Amino acid sequence: MARKIERIIIHCSDSPNGRSLFTGKLGDKNFTTPLQEIDNWHRERGFKRLTQWRERQEPQLTSIGYHFLIYTAGAVAGARHVDEIGAHAQGYNATSIGICLIGKDLFTQAQWDALREQVKTLQARHPGAQVVGHRDLPGVSKTCPNFDVSTWFVNDMQPTPDRIFN
Ligand SMILES: [Zn+2]
Repeated sequence: MARKIERIIIHCSDSPNGRSLFTGKLGDKNFTTPLQEIDNWHRERGFKRLTQWRERQEPQLTSIGYHFLIYTAGAVAGARHVDEIGAHAQGYNATSIGICLIGKDLFTQAQWDALREQVKTLQARHPGAQVVGHRDLPGVSKTCPNFDVSTWFVNDMQPTPDRIFN
């Protein structure tokens, strides 16, 4: 059943700016994608996806809490299914979609472009969904995603120049 989505919540991975999180070389035994890397982080935190959802999307990811990652090169990678409840914003997971930008507080132009397109697509599918930063939720003491989502949003989802990684 489709979930009622009230919020699209933006996060960052809090990892070094402009670093992709790919490990090893494609084809190597130890090669990992950013999806797998963050899945590992979230497994260590005890997050767990339900088997029924793993069977439906990305079965190799056992734990990752987000629905989408936005890689430094601008690729959008799907993690949890949009109808699957995430694990990214305590108290708000049931009715939200979580998007995570790879980086700490600066993001590449390709990431900003991809974020804008992804948010537009999701808003078209979930009319009325509010776009907020993780830190904007009541009771959250984190700084994630380390930029002002409301200002960005009213500015036609364009970043201020000081938030662009070069
Ligand atoms: Zn966050």
